[in-house]
Amino acid sequence: MRDLALLPKAHLHLHFTGSMRVSTLADLARRHGIRLPHVLLDADPLRVPAGERGWFRFQRLYDAARACVRGEDDMRRIVAEAAADDAAEGSGRLEIQVDPTSYAPFVGGLTPALEIVLDEARRASDATGVEVAVVVAASRMRHPLDARTLARLAARHAGDGPGQVVGFGLSNDERRGDTEQFGPAFEIAHRAGLARVPHGGELLGPAHVAEVLDHLHPERLGHGVRSAEDPHVLARVVEDGVALEVCPASNVSLGVYATAADVPLRALVDAGATVALGADDPLLFRSRLLDQYVAAREVHGLDDRALADLARSSVRASRASAATRARLLAAVDAWLADDPAGPTAPGTGPGAV
Ligand SMILES: [Zn+2]
Repeated sequence: MRDLALLPKAHLHLHFTGSMRVSTLADLARRHGIRLPHVLLDADPLRVPAGERGWFRFQRLYDAARACVRGEDDMRRIVAEAAADDAAEGSGRLEIQVDPTSYAPFVGGLTPALEIVLDEARRASDATGVEVAVVVAASRMRHPLDARTLARLAARHAGDGPGQVVGFGLSNDERRGDTEQFGPAFEIAHRAGLARVPHGGELLGPAHVAEVLDHLHPERLGHGVRSAEDPHVLARVVEDGVALEVCPASNVSLGVYATAADVPLRALVDAGATVALGADDPLLFRSRLLDQYVAAREVHGLDDRALADLARSSVRASRASAATRARLLAAVDAWLADDPAGPTAPGTGPGAV
């Protein structure tokens, strides 16, 4: 059996605070004298029921974790560790999502908050070999004019390389805010060459996916799993070439599906959708990128060829340069060609002595 940690992949759905190691969160809380809810530090993944009460609980815990991030050193540490953890799991490209608004008060404003993340993304890329780029995400909980401000800021740092902004997102409770009102912010991002990567179709069903497609014209959808519930919406996702950032552990933790087996991974892939697996918030879901590929193998029964296809999809849906994508795709081919049980395994191939 091939080692999934060695399968080259791109990680397209990971939130800044949510990427944190539990040990790092505990350390930051200690340094800043903050008492955290016990469930943030215990060993179990979060499990909340679907619906507003469940989301509220998730959001409260997320906010408690975010309150421990209080300055430049903390922010740099999060990016550096996210890159190191991705490197250990075979990721060659990380597009980490950050809303700089929450950190701005500690570092002198939105611009320095984003620039710290970008600078550390460059450093982390050099240190780990994982290309780290950034998605700037606005929040549905705030005014659409705030989203426009963030889109303009993101546009100033647009590019495809390490330490550059590659996309513009929209996160938080899908039930909040009027999707259409965020259209102008996404237009600003698009004109700057950024990918449009809003969340949609996780907490809400296919009608929400259609609404996001209509008004925000995404290149990728955060989640979008529930497009599987409507063949017309799913066909539209496929025809429009919208990649889905599917995060199975997140879906189960947030009560969208009862078990990992219920996540419609095969249905999406079989319909022809481009699927890129992601971890979303490993801090709360206790499940990192590699775990998603392991679940695809063990729970959904995908063989190595299908797993390699998932990895290729993640690379193709990334905003990496053509050269980086070609390098990673070649490495996926090499992973698949190197069959540990086959005739070319070390010591057994034709060249063996
Ligand atoms: Zn997310």
